[in-house]
Amino acid sequence: MPTASSPRFSLRTAVRILFLLFLIAATVSIIRRRADYTMQQCSGQIFGTTYTVKYIAAEDYGADILAELQRVDASLSLFNGQSTLSRINSGKQAEADAMLLEVLQLAEKVSQSTNGAFDVTVGPLVNAWGFGFARRDSLSPARVDSLRALVGHDKLRLDGTKVIKADARMVIDCGAIAKGYGVDRVAALLRRKGVADYMVEVGGEVVVRGQKDKNGTPWAIGINKPTAEAVAGGEMQTVLELHDCALATSGNYLNFYEENGRRYAHTIDPATGYPVQHSVLSATVIAPSCAEADAYATSFMVMGLDKARKLLGQHKELKAYIIYSNEQGKTAVWQSPSFPAPIQ
Ligand code: AMP
Ligand code: MG
Repeated sequence: MPTASSPRFSLRTAVRILFLLFLIAATVSIIRRRADYTMQQCSGQIFGTTYTVKYIAAEDYGADILAELQRVDASLSLFNGQSTLSRINSGKQAEADAMLLEVLQLAEKVSQSTNGAFDVTVGPLVNAWGFGFARRDSLSPARVDSLRALVGHDKLRLDGTKVIKADARMVIDCGAIAKGYGVDRVAALLRRKGVADYMVEVGGEVVVRGQKDKNGTPWAIGINKPTAEAVAGGEMQTVLELHDCALATSGNYLNFYEENGRRYAHTIDPATGYPVQHSVLSATVIAPSCAEADAYATSFMVMGLDKARKLLGQHKELKAYIIYSNEQGKTAVWQSPSFPAPIQ
């Protein structure tokens, strides 16, 4: 005999069945949509280096990606004589755009936390040492000293959107942070498009998210052995399995010249005015954003292993893998305890 509670019971059951049907339909639709997705890929040249972007999506966003990188180039690149930064350097304008403001603010934060090892005002020294756009000067200690007078993040000020240089001859060089920033911008663009799985790389700085294929294979990123020959031969020091992170590498093997038996690499110590000459061969950093990873990787080249380790102890959001030459002249590695394990 039906009880008074039967109709209520069947209503609840009906609601549950409807909900279950909805869940099944939603799952089937997600699986079908995912099955349609293919690995998209685009690559090319930007800021005087190369970029590669791989992502799983039904649509090709290659044109949007290039447009976003060109916006970063038009703001920050010194390879582009008409970029906002080039125009500010030459005194043609003082007004920064939104991207440049964001990067200069982040650069100042990193300058402060690295005690000035990171400094985007090194431009005059970068040029004088032959890594910029001017011809290599023959550098006497007196000349280095006079150029150092034009260098210092404390000589650069933002007044609203205006960039104020203490000396008109100052040259701002965002080359140690712009690639990472470009990677962040492309990653953000893909997220806005609803892409969940991607690998964005500009000049060796990368952001990965999600996975590489439908089977859940993680993205694998290699760290080069720190010699020019090894890089040319594609030799890896280690290969990492990465999940949702930003990673950047700086190395003295990436851009250098040799003169009178000495190697001059492209990282300048703002405190001395000279190219860095110590035992760190390469620094790879994982950070919350690729711009920070890029800036700290360059900073660690300047700071050396001991100071880098000290800073890493205070900044738990950063992890590093540092290749250096030990006292016996052998290549050795120091890494943060939580740095990702290599793929076996
Ligand atoms: P990265 O490959 O990211 O280490 O950047 C190297 C570039 O950063 C150099 O080619 C210079 O343009 C610039 N640079 C050199 N020394 C410094 C420094 N101490 N702080 C900020 N940028 C620097
Ligand atoms: Mg850098």
